[in-house]
Amino acid sequence: MEFQHFLHKHKLSSKEFEEKHMEQCMGCMDIIVCPAYCCRECGEFGMHKSCAELPPQIQKHTVHPHPLGFNMVDIFVCDACKRLTLSLISCRCMYCEFKLDFKCAMSIFNDENEIGKLDHQGTTVHHFCQCHPHQLIRCMLSSTTEVEKTTWKQMNLCCRACNLELLGTALLIHVYACLPCSFSIHESCMNEMPTQVRRSPFHPHHVLLP
Ligand SMILES: [Zn+2]
Ligand SMILES: [Zn+2]
Ligand SMILES: [Zn+2]
Ligand SMILES: [Zn+2]
Ligand SMILES: [Zn+2]
Ligand SMILES: [Zn+2]
Ligand SMILES: [Zn+2]
Repeated sequence: MEFQHFLHKHKLSSKEFEEKHMEQCMGCMDIIVCPAYCCRECGEFGMHKSCAELPPQIQKHTVHPHPLGFNMVDIFVCDACKRLTLSLISCRCMYCEFKLDFKCAMSIFNDENEIGKLDHQGTTVHHFCQCHPHQLIRCMLSSTTEVEKTTWKQMNLCCRACNLELLGTALLIHVYACLPCSFSIHESCMNEMPTQVRRSPFHPHHVLLP
């Protein structure tokens, strides 16, 4: 059986039994287990059947007022779980900046109950600081999967304040980042910034001195 995915130029063929090489799903980034679809023409596109069958457009007014579509992307921060995500495919609003990683898009699409869980995570925090000329975004960085572990290692993400590796041995941390500049700083280091940086009343997270 053949399948045409809207993000890939070749026809995909279905994979009903386990084959020798393990690959990652282009959508959820987990290891592919059958049933799945993969491209035999270029060998560069494989997805779980359930991931591949998400429609090209999602509309859930309880989550977001506009229709959401899918794109191939770089690293970004998911507006639902606030994680810095490695998804190769993101779910983006067609009209504004709202975006979700593939897993969040998937759970929103499949389970209305997930919407409640995502809602109380609050809105994405943006922050201007003297430590960097651009707006910083607050996000979570985790290394709960092997893919995450190896990717963050390869990227060699360091905190600009303490110069230590961002994650180190931690499984989950909060950071402020400017993704286009690869600028990142631990939330804890940000809070310990010198007093001249902390003085501004426009800094919501900074402790003001008496
Ligand atoms: Zn998948
Ligand atoms: Zn292909
Ligand atoms: Zn997410
Ligand atoms: Zn929107
Ligand atoms: Zn600040
Ligand atoms: Zn630091
Ligand atoms: Zn920047």
